[in-house]
Amino acid sequence: MNSKDIRSTFLNFFRDKKHKIVPSAPMVIKDDPTLMFTNAGMNQFKEFFLGINTPADRRVTDTQKCLRVSGKHNDLEEVGKDTYHHTMFEMLGNWSFGDYFKKEAIEWAWELLTEVYKIDKDRLYISVFEGSDDDDKLTLDQEAFDLWKTIVPEDRILMGDKKDNFWEMGDQGPCGPCSEIHVDLRSDEERQKVSGASLVNQDHPLVVEIWNLVFIQYNRKADGRLEPLPEKHVDTGMGFERLCMVLQGKQSNYDTDVFTPLIAEISKITNKTYGKDEQVDIAIRVIADHIRAVSFAIADGQLPSNTGAGYVIRRILRRAIRYGFTYLDTQEAFMYKLVGKLTSQMGEAYPELKEQEQLVTNVVKEEEHAFLRTLEQGLQLLDNMIAGMKGKVMDGRKAFELYDTFGFPIDLTALILEEKGYSLDAEGFDEAMQEQKSRSKKASVVTKGDWTVLSDDKEQEFVGYDTLEADVKLVKYRKL
Ligand code: ATP
Ligand code: MG
Ligand code: MG
Ligand code: MG
Repeated sequence: MNSKDIRSTFLNFFRDKKHKIVPSAPMVIKDDPTLMFTNAGMNQFKEFFLGINTPADRRVTDTQKCLRVSGKHNDLEEVGKDTYHHTMFEMLGNWSFGDYFKKEAIEWAWELLTEVYKIDKDRLYISVFEGSDDDDKLTLDQEAFDLWKTIVPEDRILMGDKKDNFWEMGDQGPCGPCSEIHVDLRSDEERQKVSGASLVNQDHPLVVEIWNLVFIQYNRKADGRLEPLPEKHVDTGMGFERLCMVLQGKQSNYDTDVFTPLIAEISKITNKTYGKDEQVDIAIRVIADHIRAVSFAIADGQLPSNTGAGYVIRRILRRAIRYGFTYLDTQEAFMYKLVGKLTSQMGEAYPELKEQEQLVTNVVKEEEHAFLRTLEQGLQLLDNMIAGMKGKVMDGRKAFELYDTFGFPIDLTALILEEKGYSLDAEGFDEAMQEQKSRSKKASVVTKGDWTVLSDDKEQEFVGYDTLEADVKLVKYRKL
């Protein structure tokens, strides 16, 4: 089944169960000071759960474009290194606003996965909230447990704690237990050796969570107490790219038809083969992932900039450029050339991408040029600094200046110094970095549940680059 059919099969399945198919909300949120980017399908329905607004339809379904690069859900550092976390991804979901509850949510999820998509039942594991012995004194989600017991053998039902199996919107408001569905994609031989149950939620690349069914049944009061909600809701989210991996018999999201056209294009442009060298592969995955995030953000009207959401987008793009520069030898702008491929692939499901194709291409190209110039300037400055050095060790604070002001990667500085017979005072660099971090801390965000509470001065000023720019180890250096 190709990804297009996988998406429409999901939506049609729930349409047949009397759900209204609704469009994805924007990925970039403009009117909510507590959240910069949509990070889950339920964001756009927040007011229904809070009882502020009444939904026109009690059952809805959609595929939501999400971005998880900040706040509680920040997967950025995993992206490219693992094969199943993305910055931007689609979350398929079905909702009940005060309508059906656990029974239907569980039975339909199972029906869709095993009867419609025909996933092998023996590869699926379920997790259920086990209760908590903290102040909340919650007990096992017996209702969900009993329902699952009628569907799967008990040894496939695992107990999960608050971290994985209890969802809260924030430090107040709607919340409740959840049941997650995990899939074991290892070979039969591997599965016989080690039980999949022991690998659930252990970051195993082939035992991954695909669907989360949240049962919203409590309201957390300002004093922390939980009270039952008069109306109970269902909120589910399934990772579309992961589902494609399962249904297309792949072991990586990047081997599905969601990503292969982009990867082929990157290979063509850079003349690097995917699947031969782990570092090159990571770089290719990062670029394939980030061009999606950046293109969707720009199509949503969020241009890269030096503040707020625009700064996040700029850093994502620069992270990809850096990976290309370091591992794929790309010294010229190239990411903008991927926009056409992305649009031809996803423009039908997300028309805004098609409409904004030219703008996205131009903006990405301009950003790439500007950042590559920065890198070039940095190289020159570094040469001057080296020429002016008295001893053999470069002052860490000076290297930090270069990094902070020009975004010049520190690993590149270290390598160039080494090539010329010098070294770097790494401690001095770390100190300067720590100082800068504590300076920018007051502008940082506080994470409470899914929503991020921004501090007063939410329009943060540009304070330099953080780990986004420092996380690439340089293996090769070529003069620009
Ligand atoms: P994980 O434990 O794998 O990080 P999660 O528990 O954080 O996932 P949820 O918040 O429950 O994820 O989101 C619902 C579903 O969205 C997950 O079951 C998963 O399939 C998918 N998903 C979550 N994060 C990502 C991501 N960064 N990239 C792709 N899919 C994701
Ligand atoms: Mg996660
Ligand atoms: Mg999880
Ligand atoms: Mg989850």
